[in-house]
Amino acid sequence: MTDTTNKDDRHKARQQKLKEQVDARIDAAQQEKGLVLVITGNGKGKSTSGFGMIARAVGHGQHCGVGQFIKGTWDCGERNLLAQHGVNFAVMATGFTWETQNKEADTAAAKETWQQCKAMLADDSYDVVLLDELTYMITYDYIALDDVIEAIEKRPTTQSVIITGRAAHRQLLEIADTVSEVRNVKHAFESGIKARKGIDW
Ligand code: ATP
Ligand code: MG
Repeated sequence: MTDTTNKDDRHKARQQKLKEQVDARIDAAQQEKGLVLVITGNGKGKSTSGFGMIARAVGHGQHCGVGQFIKGTWDCGERNLLAQHGVNFAVMATGFTWETQNKEADTAAAKETWQQCKAMLADDSYDVVLLDELTYMITYDYIALDDVIEAIEKRPTTQSVIITGRAAHRQLLEIADTVSEVRNVKHAFESGIKARKGIDW
């Protein structure tokens, strides 16, 4: 037997073992339910991940909703596209929170957007709901954490919810089925490069 044949056989055996392990884990996953996903951390890719899942669901003919907190008044490529495909948007009426410096107006705007999101979370016609940048609303105490947890826990069992934003509250992580933390390795902005249409919004 040549060396190459030996190597091929060993590779085949390893792959076969790996396949058996993966198949066993796929068989073991029997639960079918809507998920809670949290995408957090300081790196770039949280909102784009959330919108990626919305695009995925829309591609399967599913009904989706998006709540956009904080950057509602900004131009948004995903909103421009997905609103044309039946995705319902609840958009916070003020711009960047740290730009407006008006806590009362920001709180009112956040609460108004949250009410629209709550209606989606209570509606079983929605398959997936994205709550983009929701974590900050809790950190700033614009929306009560308990109210968010209750709405998520009471949602229809088939509905999935995605929450994005930095520094997600510990209790959000606890109720989530899937949590991903995007780590910042480097970001173009730190080298003085301007945010780009199509990449950053
Ligand atoms: P994206 O919307 O691109 O997925 P994100 O949701 O992970 O980004 P946010 O914290 O919501 O990030 O910030 C949104 C904007 O800030 C985007 O323009 C993004 O490119 C930029 N950004 C994200 N992470 C960083 C970072 N570590 N340093 C500087 N700018 C960042
Ligand atoms: Mg974001």
